[in-house]
Amino acid sequence: MHNPGETPLQSDAAPSEPIAIAFDPRGDSHVAPGFHPERPERLSAARRGVQSAAPDAAALTLREPTLDELARAHSAQYIERLDQSLRRGQGFLDGDTFFSAGSRAAAWGAAGAALSVVDAMIDGDVRRAVVLARPPGHHATRDRAMGFCLLNNGAIAAAHARSRGLDRVAIVDWDVHHGNGTQDIFDRDPSVLFTSIHQWPLYPGTGRADEVGHGEGIGSIVNVPLPADSNGAAYAAAFERVVLPTLEAFAPKLVIISAGFDAHERDPLSSMRLRSSDYRWMAAQLAALADRLGHGRVLLALEGGYDLRAIEQSIAESVTGLREGARSAVARPEGELQRDASDALRAAVKVQRELWPVLRT
Ligand SMILES: [Zn+2]
Repeated sequence: MHNPGETPLQSDAAPSEPIAIAFDPRGDSHVAPGFHPERPERLSAARRGVQSAAPDAAALTLREPTLDELARAHSAQYIERLDQSLRRGQGFLDGDTFFSAGSRAAAWGAAGAALSVVDAMIDGDVRRAVVLARPPGHHATRDRAMGFCLLNNGAIAAAHARSRGLDRVAIVDWDVHHGNGTQDIFDRDPSVLFTSIHQWPLYPGTGRADEVGHGEGIGSIVNVPLPADSNGAAYAAAFERVVLPTLEAFAPKLVIISAGFDAHERDPLSSMRLRSSDYRWMAAQLAALADRLGHGRVLLALEGGYDLRAIEQSIAESVTGLREGARSAVARPEGELQRDASDALRAAVKVQRELWPVLRT
């Protein structure tokens, strides 16, 4: 009810989609020996953000992954080697990828959480869901742990959705780093579209616009590298000119967001300029697209992001965007499209237009 003359808020006027959460508290047991930016407090911050945006969110029952489910994204030899390494107690798998006594439970639990969401979407009526787990996954390749990542949760979810009968799945990676692991896993697979917007150059050094997949997978990798200092306007332009048209043409039956929050202006590891509300706009665009495709399925999985306040606010905004979809009241990100970002975007479109005729200059 509103007083006469009072303008109702959009959020009052429009019902919003329910959200399901797959939260695995064992993520807290994956701990570096000293200070490390990929720390348990990140998970608490993300959980606070989700709870503030969706206090009525339904908690999903989680299950463990099977070896076969992991082996759809990773080699059996890698899974065995990783399992044996993690059982040693603690150490490093590469220069910056640590493990501790609780890491096996955390990593297997994170993959299981992602699988549980896919099951709930296919067997139940869940349409929007958030995976709150650690460690992150998008740098883990088919046979290598790297970049704080052990098992590639998003890729495992996508492969599971494929095996459950969804014939096309898309992964949109807005983490500031290129999702090299996910690209490696689906590089030759035309049934999974991998789209990444990332700062370039930056770790891990992959993700150039001309990396478009191999063999039958040519065209299923869509990279949009943007220069440091790119703002919300650059991301909005990347969405409008590349990400959304290619997704719409591909028509995935499930959209997975590899959701790092390290392109935020507060993040200490990178130099992008996103604000928290920009994540709401991006999430709402993807939710609206999933609704237009008739199924509404969007799974948001936490990847990187190393400023606690930025994580909490940005994931809250993302959840709000997922709930609103096309009804979102949030404005397109403001600011000028900088010249170097515009040039980078034009170069990406030039490459992708050969493979996606729907794209315009
Ligand atoms: Zn990252």
